[in-house]
Amino acid sequence: MSAVWTENETVTPPQEVRIDAKIERETHKLEKRLCRQVGQAIIDYNMIEEGDRVMVCLSGGKDSYGLLDILLKLQARAPISFELIAVNLDQKQPGFPDHILPDYLKKLGVQFHIETQDTYSIVKKVVPEGKTMCSLCSRLRRGILYRVADELKITKIALGHHRDDMLQTFFLNMFFGGKLKGMPPKLVSDDGGHIVIRPLANVAEKDLIRWAEHRQFPIIPCNLCGSQEHLQRKQIGNMLRDWEKQYPGRTETMLTSLQNVVPSHLMDHKHYDFKNIKVTGVPDADGDKVFDEEEFPTTTLPGLQVLNFAA
Ligand code: SF4
Repeated sequence: MSAVWTENETVTPPQEVRIDAKIERETHKLEKRLCRQVGQAIIDYNMIEEGDRVMVCLSGGKDSYGLLDILLKLQARAPISFELIAVNLDQKQPGFPDHILPDYLKKLGVQFHIETQDTYSIVKKVVPEGKTMCSLCSRLRRGILYRVADELKITKIALGHHRDDMLQTFFLNMFFGGKLKGMPPKLVSDDGGHIVIRPLANVAEKDLIRWAEHRQFPIIPCNLCGSQEHLQRKQIGNMLRDWEKQYPGRTETMLTSLQNVVPSHLMDHKHYDFKNIKVTGVPDADGDKVFDEEEFPTTTLPGLQVLNFAA
């Protein structure tokens, strides 16, 4: 007997329909999360203001496509008015498909500029065979982007670095540079002339991967220059991924910690005047607790487990 749709009858939809509905729900949740996290970073760090001309640096990778996509969504509903100008630097790497980005951006109807500069040949000529080309390549790219930003009267330069990039940089600096220093969500550029923003600062890389798949961005491979991926960054990335696998939620906790710095409990006298401290006579919960261990919330630190070796 064929199923009849009546008011009283509950009919279970076929499995494919249920799976499709689930995927749609998850994608909707992902979009909301991305917009919320980017919107929050913009508010927290006052990244974009009325009248800004924001240059969105597009490499053709998933992160920069995601950045432009989410910024366009936020622009449409923002209470302020600002412009987005997508900029790609075509470095003339062999095999770079130079039609992909212009085609995509034209279809999107967004303002864009493609800057063509053969930095690839310069780097190849200057850097000896077998040596890493990245540092010269990035220096050249940076200079070109600053010049283009000036020519286009840009007020903010937006980059597609995400949460995982920020944490990798933090650990790279700690492990290899002896510094407690991450990647800033907003800072003046090293030439002093531009404000650089990273609106994806709160966004997880895995969400950008899923978003890129969903939106089917025309990704351009990032290994065209033939240079090896930065080995130390790769190692740190693997370490962070392993931690997250073993202790789910740890990455998020680490990102939160970058927003809760307590200079008095570190050892940098440039950031805390240890030499001149005096007793205040006023109890302070943030004061030194002598022998007492720091107290942590018992339930909210995700993934931490206590191993009882004595048992
Ligand atoms: S990976 Fe290639 S394109 Fe990227 S910075 Fe290094 S040399 Fe330049």
